[in-house]
Amino acid sequence: MKHQNLIVAVLIVIIAVLIGAVAFDIHARNTAASTKKTSKKSSQTSAASDQAKTTQTAAQKTIVLDPGHSAVMPSGNEAIGPGSSETKAKDMVGTKGVATGVTEYDFMLNLANALKPELEKRGYNVVLTRTDSSSAHSCIDRAQVANDNHADAFIRLHANAAESAAPEGAMTINITANNPYTKATYTQCRKLSDCVLDAYCSATGAKREGVSERDDLTGNNWATVPTTLIEVGYMTNPDEDKRMQTDAYQAKMVQGIANGIDQFFK
Ligand SMILES: [Zn+2]
Repeated sequence: MKHQNLIVAVLIVIIAVLIGAVAFDIHARNTAASTKKTSKKSSQTSAASDQAKTTQTAAQKTIVLDPGHSAVMPSGNEAIGPGSSETKAKDMVGTKGVATGVTEYDFMLNLANALKPELEKRGYNVVLTRTDSSSAHSCIDRAQVANDNHADAFIRLHANAAESAAPEGAMTINITANNPYTKATYTQCRKLSDCVLDAYCSATGAKREGVSERDDLTGNNWATVPTTLIEVGYMTNPDEDKRMQTDAYQAKMVQGIANGIDQFFK
């Protein structure tokens, strides 16, 4: 009888210890779970504030406009892309209106100056690679302005020239999918080139020459941000040249390019 009591007592102790251990374990798990929950909650809070920051910056996207050429040329050559042994002139003087005599560099600076307030009105932060025609800018310098400003879109503004008077219309120039210098940006560049050209042609009624892809443009190759170069029309076509120098047509050009940029971010 005494012996049996001892066994019962030992069993009770063992059961009590087991219950205690299980209870402790549950408590420990709950504590761990609640700690986990707390840390998850705090990471959610920081994700939410990151989201808010993203939304803030999205409202202030930076557009870098590059009015092509200038009256003053930098001397010498530069590599057409990072690490390339192939070089080209740092910049060229550009073309000129056969009927109007307007220079491409003046025309593009005027266009950039008209685009800037329109884009600002639409909520963008706008930076120009040049604000006068009396200073020299190499194509690498122009791309560097876009890179340094972390441009969300880099828009290079040019007007086209041909051997004969016949060619007319607009095109955008994009890197190829196999660009050896900056191909990581290809998809974004191509989207920008498509959006800008489509919206431009639809606003102005310009003939659509399409998106041309090539890897020999220094300013495109050195850019590490979404980049397109638009040729707004041919200054060697007398009709298009005259049309492009009217206020009414320039207003459409501005709307078209701005609409294309809006479209790119949708
Ligand atoms: Zn040009």
